[in-house]
Amino acid sequence: MIPVLAPLPQEVAVVLVLFQEFLAAHADPDGGPLLHDLYADDAPIALGGRLLRKGETDVEAFAQAHRRACMQGIGTLPVFDQVDLLAENVDEDKSAVVGWFRAIESGDGQSATVGLGIRRDGGQWRVGWCTVASDVQPWSYNQGLVQTLAEYPWMLSDQPVLPRSSLDASYYRLFRQSDVHLSFLPESRFSCHMSGGCCKFDYHIALPPAAQVLIDAIPWEDIKPALKGTKLEVRADGQLQLKDNHETCRFMDEQRQCLIHETLGHQPFGPCGVFPFAFAETPEGVSVSTSLVCGSVRNRLGPLLAERQFDVRERLFLAPVRRPNGFRLAPGLEIPWESFRQIETILLDLLEKPQVPLRQRLYAGNRLLHALRRNEPIDVGAWLEEPPGMLPDEYRETLRTYLARIFAWDRQGFTRLPKGMSLDLRHDRIRDELVVVDILRNLQFSKAYSYPYDLTTAHNLSILLYVLTGIMQSSIDGPLPDELWRELAALGGHGLLASLLPDSAPQELKEFLGSSEFGQWALWY
Ligand code: SF4
Repeated sequence: MIPVLAPLPQEVAVVLVLFQEFLAAHADPDGGPLLHDLYADDAPIALGGRLLRKGETDVEAFAQAHRRACMQGIGTLPVFDQVDLLAENVDEDKSAVVGWFRAIESGDGQSATVGLGIRRDGGQWRVGWCTVASDVQPWSYNQGLVQTLAEYPWMLSDQPVLPRSSLDASYYRLFRQSDVHLSFLPESRFSCHMSGGCCKFDYHIALPPAAQVLIDAIPWEDIKPALKGTKLEVRADGQLQLKDNHETCRFMDEQRQCLIHETLGHQPFGPCGVFPFAFAETPEGVSVSTSLVCGSVRNRLGPLLAERQFDVRERLFLAPVRRPNGFRLAPGLEIPWESFRQIETILLDLLEKPQVPLRQRLYAGNRLLHALRRNEPIDVGAWLEEPPGMLPDEYRETLRTYLARIFAWDRQGFTRLPKGMSLDLRHDRIRDELVVVDILRNLQFSKAYSYPYDLTTAHNLSILLYVLTGIMQSSIDGPLPDELWRELAALGGHGLLASLLPDSAPQELKEFLGSSEFGQWALWY
C-alpha cells in the first residue's frame, strides 16, 4: 500500500519553490529583473560599492550590475545544484519563514549549508536574505537578516570576483579563502582573552559606511537599549568614526566583551577583526606579524599562528595589506628581494641570542648594515663582542632633543611616566627582555618601516625603541605598566614612529635617520 504523505505546510512549500526560483534567476545573466522582483524590500544588496536595501535600488541599475557580475565571474562564481531541504522554521505570526538547504557547488563539489529567509511583502512571499553558514542555524528571519548584513565586507569586495549576492559572498568567506603562502615568526601565539585593551587603546578606528547599515539592523532594544539609534560620526573622508584617540569603544560592555561580536558570533568590522594581526605582501606570499599592544600576544598566550590558519586567512581578507614599493638597504639604495629577505632574517636571528646583551645584538645588526652598504668585510661574531664606543656630547644633546619630543607626544600611555623623568638610559636596567625582543622582532617582520623606508631606517627605529624602553625602565622601579608596553608596541609594529619621518621631512633628515651612524650613536647614548 502506498503511504499517504502529510501535505507540506504551505509556507514550507513556498520556501522550497522560492529558493529554486531564486537560484535560477541568480545564475542567469539576464535574470536581474526577476531577481530584483524576488527580493523583499529590506533585502541587503551591494550595488555600486554601497550596501543598500532592495527598496533603495533601481531595477535597471541592479539588472546591469547582475549581468556584469555574471559575465565577469564565469568560471569562478559558484554554481549551486542538487538542492535538498534540511530544515525550516516558520515565525510565530507566520509572516516569515527560514529554510535551510544542502546545496552542492558543482565546480568544487563542495556541500554547502544555505539559509534562505523569506517574508510576506506586498501580499507576496519574497526573499529577504540568503547566506551560507557553517551549519543549520536556529535563526529567526530577523536574526538571519542581521547575519547577512554582517557579510558586507565580502559583498562589497571583488575578491576572488564580484559576488552577485550575499549567497556568493558568504560562500567565498567560508570556502574560497586565499591560499597564498603565509609566513609567521615561529614564537607568535594568540587567542583573545577579552582584555578589552584593543577597544580602548589610544588610536582611532574608522569603518566603511556599510557598517552603519549593520548597526541600524541590530536589535539594540534587546541587547543594550542605550545603543538604539546609534549613528557613527561621518568623517571628512566619508569613513565612519567608530572611536577616536583617548576613547573607549561604545560597543564594549561592562564585562569587556564586544557586543557586536557577541551578537553575531564573529567580528565583521575589518579593523576589529584584523587586530592584532598585520600583513605584509612579499614576492613569496604574506608575512603575518602580531601587535604586542595585545596582552595575549605579549604574554604568548594561545595557539601558534601556524595552527590557526583558517582564522588568519579570514582576517587577511579584512585587512589592509602592506605592499612594497621596492626593496632598499638604506635610503635610495635598492636591493633584490632575495637580499632583503636574507638581511631581514639575519637581523631577526641576531635578536634571538639571549646569551648576548640586547644592546650588543642591535649593535651587530647596525655594523652588518654599515658593512653591506660599503662593501666591507662581514664579521658578525666579532661585532657581537666589540665594546661600545663613546658618544660625543653634541650628538648626545641632539638625541636628547629627539627623545624629549617623542615623550611629549599626546599619547595617553606616556601620562604614566614620572613627571620630570630623567632621559638618562642605564643599559643594565633593561628588564623583561623577552617582551622587548618580541616587540623588536615584530617591528622588523611587520615591515612597518622597512617597506616605506628601508632596512637601515627600520633597524635604527628598532634601536630608538630599545632606547625609549630603556629610559622608561631606568626611571620606573619594577615592571612597566601595561599602558607603557602598549605604547612601545604601537610605536613599533603599528608604525607610530613614522611620524618622525613624514613625507614632508627634509631629505637630509631621512638620510640621517637611515644612516648606520645614527643607529650607532643611539646605541652609544
Ligand atoms: S566594535 Fe567591538 S571589537 Fe571593535 S573596538 Fe568596539 S568593542 Fe572593540
